[in-house]
Amino acid sequence: DIQLAQRVQRIKPSPTLAVTAFAAQLKAEGRDIISLSAGEPDFDTPAHIQEAAIEAMHAGQTRYTAVDGTGALKAAIIGKFRRDNSLAYTPEQILVSNGAKQSFYNLCEALLNPGDEVVIPAPYWVSYPDIVLLADATPVPVLADQAQGFKITPTQLEASITTRTRLLVLNSPSNPTGATYTATELAGLGEVLKRHPQIIIASDDIYEPIVFGDTRFTNLLNVCPELADRTVVMNGVSKAYAMTGWRIGYAAGPKALIGAMKKIQSQSTSNPNSIAQAAAAAALDGDQACVETMRGAFEQRQRLVSERLNAMPGIDCLPSSGTFYAFPNVVGAIERLPNIEDDIGFAQFLLDEVGVAVVPGSAFGAPGHIRLSFATSMANLEEALRRIATRLQAG
Ligand code: PLP
Repeated sequence: DIQLAQRVQRIKPSPTLAVTAFAAQLKAEGRDIISLSAGEPDFDTPAHIQEAAIEAMHAGQTRYTAVDGTGALKAAIIGKFRRDNSLAYTPEQILVSNGAKQSFYNLCEALLNPGDEVVIPAPYWVSYPDIVLLADATPVPVLADQAQGFKITPTQLEASITTRTRLLVLNSPSNPTGATYTATELAGLGEVLKRHPQIIIASDDIYEPIVFGDTRFTNLLNVCPELADRTVVMNGVSKAYAMTGWRIGYAAGPKALIGAMKKIQSQSTSNPNSIAQAAAAAALDGDQACVETMRGAFEQRQRLVSERLNAMPGIDCLPSSGTFYAFPNVVGAIERLPNIEDDIGFAQFLLDEVGVAVVPGSAFGAPGHIRLSFATSMANLEEALRRIATRLQAG
């Protein structure tokens, strides 16, 4: 047997990707499965973005680019921050990577030492703790339950901070809960952070444009500009423009830290795909109507999903204010079912008995819940929810 590094033994494969792959496998075997597990929009990349990629290819943009991204894409990113977020950056403050996942990976590798603590509000995106572990540091989950809207309070943040705390991760709108912090809530967290100058803040804004109703997206720096010299904003084109497969994300922050992240990337993956960079520039610079069209579709589905879920016995769903996820509490439903112990068993039960694939909340640090993705057609959603309701009513 080959003796593997301790590093790889500390982490687990992404559970969301695992459920998605397992559902796809069952489907391929002929089972009637509706997958509500995917973390990606069900739309195709808009045509004008695809065209830009084809043009780039024909124009010979098929070579290595600068490690940190092309001038054109960096200019588009700087323009986006100015236009959408009223934030000003210079090109040296921007690093383009193979998805925002790599942005966070680069950040952790560039910043963290063994023993450093990273405060991660739970429920959290599955990859944060494992990427922190890969960087030899220690994830410190702080649970924000449904009663508090899945959002941590300033008191909780203060209590989680020790002399070893090096990084705080904020993700709003949140995967998996769909919760979005208000400007006032962010200002409250900012007050705590101002008292702890050793803490760097990672603001993961990847779901920024997907917000519903009266919800407005706010970045921490809009309410606490004085934190700019220690905040890294991460974003990307995957969710906003239905471009998950293109693998383009970016980080913006203090020059020295971005430079260190670039050094990590220069010795691992080099530049992200040149053609995808051209497509991402077209996405950020082009007509934003496609973003609104997709947002509107997600909003319609969100209403259906939370309404139907809340009508089911033993299920309690806080309507999401953004993203394409619902994160209902299913403890009551589990209690009513014989032989089901927890959310993992419940997700398995839904897959086995009604052919609906969801991700157990434990994967996100919040047992007793499940995550349903509504990045699928209304017809699929209607049918999946009908199946679950019928089965739960049968007891
Ligand atoms: N951040 C969050 C909260 C996510 O949910 C995801 C994808 O699921 C990412 C970052 C990474 O996106 P990408 O690497 O495609 O840019």
